[in-house]
Amino acid sequence: MRYPQTFIDDLRRQTDIVRVIQDYVQLKKKGANWMACCPFHKEKTPSFSVSPTKEIFYCFGCHKGGSVFNFVMEIERVSFPEAIRIVADKVGMPLPKLVDDSRFESKRREADDVIQLNTWAMQWWEQQLESSAEARIAREYLVSREISSETQKTFRLGYAPDSWEALSVYLRQKGATQAQIDKSGLVVKKEEGNSYDRFRGRLMFPVMDVQGRPIAFGGRTLKNEDAKYINSPETAAYIKGRNLFGLNLTRDEIRRQQFAILVEGFLDLIVPYQSGVRNVAASLGTALTPEQTKLLSRFARKVVVNYDGDRAGVQAAKKSIEILLAEDLEVKVLVLPENFDPDEFIRKFGVSEYQQRRAKALPYIQFVIDHALRDRSLHRPAEKAEAVEEVLPYIRAVRDHVQKREYFDMAMDALHVTDLTLQRELWRTLRSNVPDPVGAGKRAVRRSGLKQTFAETRLLHLLIDNETLRKEFLPRLEPAIYQELATSSIFEALAELERNGVKVDFDSLREALQNDEVALELLPMLVMGGFGNGADNGGELSVSAERGLDEHADPRVAAERDLAALNFLWIERRIQQLVSEIKTADNDGDDALRDRLVLEQLNLHQRRKALMPSPDAPVSTN
Ligand SMILES: [Zn+2]
Repeated sequence: MRYPQTFIDDLRRQTDIVRVIQDYVQLKKKGANWMACCPFHKEKTPSFSVSPTKEIFYCFGCHKGGSVFNFVMEIERVSFPEAIRIVADKVGMPLPKLVDDSRFESKRREADDVIQLNTWAMQWWEQQLESSAEARIAREYLVSREISSETQKTFRLGYAPDSWEALSVYLRQKGATQAQIDKSGLVVKKEEGNSYDRFRGRLMFPVMDVQGRPIAFGGRTLKNEDAKYINSPETAAYIKGRNLFGLNLTRDEIRRQQFAILVEGFLDLIVPYQSGVRNVAASLGTALTPEQTKLLSRFARKVVVNYDGDRAGVQAAKKSIEILLAEDLEVKVLVLPENFDPDEFIRKFGVSEYQQRRAKALPYIQFVIDHALRDRSLHRPAEKAEAVEEVLPYIRAVRDHVQKREYFDMAMDALHVTDLTLQRELWRTLRSNVPDPVGAGKRAVRRSGLKQTFAETRLLHLLIDNETLRKEFLPRLEPAIYQELATSSIFEALAELERNGVKVDFDSLREALQNDEVALELLPMLVMGGFGNGADNGGELSVSAERGLDEHADPRVAAERDLAALNFLWIERRIQQLVSEIKTADNDGDDALRDRLVLEQLNLHQRRKALMPSPDAPVSTN
């Protein structure tokens, strides 16, 4: 579908290319031409020139050039027909019919109708906000949010009176038909066929398309109604998830700064905008859609996601990250302290504090890793596996191979995955295009982390097999001792069954461990015993010397040895952890904490010494 060529030629002749480009770029006359710093590449001395006589522009720096239509296509990132529409609009030339089908035309007319009605509604609501007595509550709300009257006008805010029909009456006065009103989304249709005004007693936020036309509205309650915001339904002019709030005002700044800050709500955009942060766009409540991402990517390839810090906000941020990555955008995440949203934060701490934090926004992968680590301990294999599982999809989504590898290495490092075989396996699952082959990464981590020691294996067998030993030893097993073992879930299940007075056997254990594949695999062996040469490696305390005695050893003596071995392992692990914790406390300058940790370390060294086997029992002979 296109405009007739005669029209295009006409339009080009009628258009003053200097005046059109002047809307976007500050041109200065220089001889026959006009010059400016190029809007398409970074430069300090002007190499962008416009020739009114030749009706073209050309940049000597980046070699972009062409007609006025090419310029508009490039700067607005629109198609050729859209560029023509924009230029015709600027010049004031009426558009001819597109040489094409009628269905598109009628759809287009319906959308134009909706926009016309929306425009009338917006203007009327603006007047109400300005001067009606009833709107005082709305004006007071704006004052309480420190929103100036200039900002109010920039965003065309309004007030919808608390009436079932005031707007409908007004629209009919302006000449709208009932059919147009019904299709506008400004009213709600009742079953009997009548309709009533959708927005009543609300502060109105118009949602504009990129060209600045009102396509929908959000209305904020000013009383304590359940629905804090209500929004326009979809209409011929408005499809949900296709637009970004504020972009009509902020896109030039986004292009200039070469990145966009993505926020959630109306005020999260309006308040930063008012304080001078103007490269912002709002996704409006819902998580970002692929269409919104495409729209945004016309103006910048880098995005800083700045959603609420609460749970819903974090979920929405993570969802948005995946979608931004799929569009191959570079993503950072800004998390404000104490769950502040941008609106509250700027009002409380000021814009320069906000900008400082924004400048330190983390690469999204760090945000994802931080969240995966929250409330989890990497010393527990099951939790470590969960953390890896949570992070992998965000690496898989990266399209650039080098970047993907870099983030993968970052994640492996942060999640303490040091085993190279495992790393290779995880990397393989990332490169397959099947989205997460059913927890493959998780299973790989658990398998590799799960090299159970001989001591824990034998002790578990003894505790399952021998009720007397179980009653004697379970109370002596502090959770800390087994929590970070490969078999921790089995120890937990045993303790749980014992606590509840349930008979311990294969069936009850299988029942208790039903969601733990790895434990279930081990269970038959643990119940059966006879694993003398299967389970390997007693850790620092070699058990190889006693393994030969295994079948004949007094079970109580064996259990004591195993418990001592596990104790020893736990102390070793804790000492290792303390080394890094002390280093961190030291770096943070937290002397009190460091001293406490050093003391704990000293105590553990002594306990370890006490557990050391006597010199005549050789230690670790492999
Ligand atoms: Zn250039």
